[in-house]
Amino acid sequence: MNKWVKGNIINIKHWSEYILTLIVHAPVNFFIAGQFTKIRLEINKKKIHRSYSYVNPPKSDNLEFYLISIKKGKLSKYLNILKKGDTVSIKKESLGYFTLNNIKSCKHLWMISTGTAIGPYLSILSQKENINKFEKIILVHSVRLNKEFSYENKIKILKKKYKNKLLIQKIVSREKVYESISGRIPMLIYNGLLESSVHLNINAKNSHIMLCGNPSMIKDTTKILEDIKGMKKNLININGNITTENYW
Ligand code: NAP
Repeated sequence: MNKWVKGNIINIKHWSEYILTLIVHAPVNFFIAGQFTKIRLEINKKKIHRSYSYVNPPKSDNLEFYLISIKKGKLSKYLNILKKGDTVSIKKESLGYFTLNNIKSCKHLWMISTGTAIGPYLSILSQKENINKFEKIILVHSVRLNKEFSYENKIKILKKKYKNKLLIQKIVSREKVYESISGRIPMLIYNGLLESSVHLNINAKNSHIMLCGNPSMIKDTTKILEDIKGMKKNLININGNITTENYW
């Protein structure tokens, strides 16, 4: 049985009115970078839980979760008003297959995300395990506004650590920003702009694509990768080159 354990809120970083990072101390079991757990609160006598990916690498003292508060949501707006010293419930065992041990060695690993779904990639890259299976890693992050790149400093540190092995491509969809491209991920793959901006091609022979975030982005991007790149989903028993994690 996957028990709920008590998590103490150690800190909360509010990046904006609606984007936040929760730092939690909880006796959870070991997880694999890329996995998620569930966080639960009791709200008006009802227990409500949602899945959240770890941002921290395994074996950290504290757990880190990056999330967006949805005005009409049932849980996140309550997580947004937690204070240091408050408690949440958290699942002791982690879940999910969005991990590098489920991906075969290849030349280029594309880590593509929208919004707060950058989280699992930060965990994976911070841990730096299973990374030698890939020659280059391309971290692609799409947000609405430039100010939503909350983890820019952490990404700069990772870039220094990985040097030329790690390429970063920022996408801002609702304003024009220097060093970012503009548009939506499926179209940017369809029109070749994503590949030309990082000077690498996506192809079924040497690339693996990880997609994390907005479910419609994942659906549309998967279709384009299947249709124009001849790629296939990577499933538990069938090797392919598209691995996905829906954020809601
Ligand atoms: P998001 O809405 O998924 O947007 C993140 C990035 O993904 C943006 O660049 C967005 O482009 C892009 N995107 C969205 N749908 C796409 C699709 N079908 N295909 C390709 N790209 C797509 O993520 P988020 O900004 O982290 O927001 C997550 C959720 O929070 C959403 O449901 C949103 O409505 C909600 N939200 C709530 C508040 C609040 O006040 N509480 C504020 C912001 C967002 P576009 O700009 O073109 O959509």
